[in-house]
Amino acid sequence: MKSLININARSIPDAIQAAQQAIADGNQVAFSGGGTDLLQQLKDGTDLANVIISLRNVEDTRTIVSSGADISVGGLITLNELAENPLIISGLTAVAQAAASVGTPQIRNVGTLAGNITQRPWCWYYRNGFNCFKAGGDQCFSVNGENGQHAIFGGGPSYIVHPSDVAPALVAFNAVFTVSGPNGNRELTSEDFFVLPITNPERENSLEEGELLTGVRIPAVSANTVSTYYKVMDRQAWTHAEVGVATVIQRNGNQVQNASIVLAGVAPIPWRVQAVEDFLVGKQIGEAVAREAGQLAVEDAQPLANNAHKLPMTAAAIERAVLSLAAG
Ligand SMILES: Cc1cc2nc3c(=O)[nH]c(=O)nc-3n(C[C@H](O)[C@H](O)[C@H](O)COP(=O)(O)OP(=O)(O)OC[C@H]3O[C@@H](n4cnc5c(N)ncnc54)[C@H](O)[C@@H]3O)c2cc1C
Ligand code: SF4
Repeated sequence: MKSLININARSIPDAIQAAQQAIADGNQVAFSGGGTDLLQQLKDGTDLANVIISLRNVEDTRTIVSSGADISVGGLITLNELAENPLIISGLTAVAQAAASVGTPQIRNVGTLAGNITQRPWCWYYRNGFNCFKAGGDQCFSVNGENGQHAIFGGGPSYIVHPSDVAPALVAFNAVFTVSGPNGNRELTSEDFFVLPITNPERENSLEEGELLTGVRIPAVSANTVSTYYKVMDRQAWTHAEVGVATVIQRNGNQVQNASIVLAGVAPIPWRVQAVEDFLVGKQIGEAVAREAGQLAVEDAQPLANNAHKLPMTAAAIERAVLSLAAG
């Protein structure tokens, strides 16, 4: 393994300045939250950084604060802290459940919210040194190869699935992503933050070189809002979603006033299914409505040769998630 320079940043401005200096000196830089994904990337050679800016000693952005109008979650909050926070459990249940569903207790203990959202894709080809679009090459090996776990929506030219469980739950709550870098701070909607391969096949988000994800801001939800994150895996633990569904419903009695449905594991970005959201508004939640919602979600899916199993899986996951949010 090549030698690496590790810089322990003390604050977010310190991290940004250290990154800027290292880039100016001709280095490739990576930020490290918990390092649970980054270390593997460095070993695999998918991340070519030679300077690591560790955020372990950074004290800012480790809080969860409610202003009444919104909840701000710092990027360095660990997934365990997110999953166990009373404010998140009660108001943003799907976010707490998504965080609790990630990997293993060890990963959740050190893995950060920012690292979870910005982790790189786990496509077998990319992680094993194939020079595909994601690695700067000019082809996708999965499209005619191993594609059982790849995208059924939004694919091409890369067919990765976005690997985060937490991001779809945040998108379902209309979270805004806060970013800091040498040119100051930016707030981005999910539409601006996440990037489809058709726009840039090498990246999954619009972070620029030297920029950090410092947290998310989630608008306050009404008291009659309920939510859940339903995750389907190919084994019982330690793994990413085959399909995940973040469902947020504002209801009056059992009638849907507003719905937000965002999928994990099926597209290169957290995938909002607007048609299902529109369908649910005004409906009484029940078995037939939930089933129709699930079927509607996959009408536009475009499976590859080996991932058509994700269609019934997605439909069933939505059906169960919606039904679980029925009043009483
Ligand atoms: C066995 C295993 C199982 C896993 N299962 C799941 C799962 O079920 N669900 C899931 O969602 N994830 C899963 N993961 C992926 C991931 O490791 C965790 O989600 C974790 O939260 C990543 O956070 P981290 O802080 O360790 O990230 P790091 O490893 O520190 O960073 C990940 C990436 O984000 C970049 N980065 C880190 N922090 C920032 C920042 N503030 N701003 C900009 N870029 C940043 C890094 O440079 C790197 O490219 C799994 C990983 C493993 C090894
Ligand atoms: S799906 Fe994306 S990461 Fe996987 S081989 Fe194709 S281009 Fe590479």
